[in-house]
Amino acid sequence: MGGQALASTVIADAAAAGVYLSDEQWRLIARYRDLVLEWNEQFNLTAIREPAGVEQRLMLDAMRMVPVLDGWLARMNVTRPVRLVDVGSGAGFPGLVLKIVRPDLRIVLVEATGKKVRFLEHVIATLRLDHAEAIHARAEDVGHDQGYRERFDIATARAVASLPALLELCGPLLQTGGVAFFPKSLDLDQELAAGHRAAPLVGMVIEESTILPHSSTRLVTAVKMGYTPARFPRRPGLPAKEPLGGTDPAR
Ligand code: SAH
Repeated sequence: MGGQALASTVIADAAAAGVYLSDEQWRLIARYRDLVLEWNEQFNLTAIREPAGVEQRLMLDAMRMVPVLDGWLARMNVTRPVRLVDVGSGAGFPGLVLKIVRPDLRIVLVEATGKKVRFLEHVIATLRLDHAEAIHARAEDVGHDQGYRERFDIATARAVASLPALLELCGPLLQTGGVAFFPKSLDLDQELAAGHRAAPLVGMVIEESTILPHSSTRLVTAVKMGYTPARFPRRPGLPAKEPLGGTDPAR
């Protein structure tokens, strides 16, 4: 099944973004792409169904986060293995790509849909990724589990919820000094304003929102500055339904 080589442009595009992988890592990326395409025929894992789309929009866009991640990790100077949580991981984006590109990361993928968790477990086993765990749960519940609360250095979430909800779901999982990365679309003004209002309520500050090179993704970076009150995250569904920070008083 599958087994086609990656489009030659993928390696060049990654290099243009400053990401260089070994042959073995490219083999893992290609195998992962094949698994996404194979499983997607049976289960609705992602709306992106074409090989080129999976390579460009899922694999490469996640890789383009790596230089930003590396920069923050260098500044954070964590002296033990770095722990990353990917919230609403779906078919593993961006969490599994980041794990392949930076194998020293210890990753936890949080996903509410069982069939997607089974896929994530299958990929982890097939690619023999170590220190990678997929958990079938909602982030609202994981955030109150003492095994996971305030345990992570990095949090990521792509295409899961609006910024206020993401901050409420990811903030409790981060240690003080930890950083969250949210890939978003370019047109973000209102959502960003809402995010700025929500962030301090959960001990976070939005530091940057930069357009990733050669892409149409804006990467929002938020830092955990202090304590997240114990009542966050609120019960499942509320972070998205009643976003923190309310509506813009100017509107
Ligand atoms: N990050 C992936 C998936 C995006 S789809 C990608 O970029 O391709 C959003 C995913 O988040 C879905 O699989 C959904 O089941 C999951 N999700 C949404 N809210 C969640 C929550 N509160 N906790 C855990 N998973 C959640």
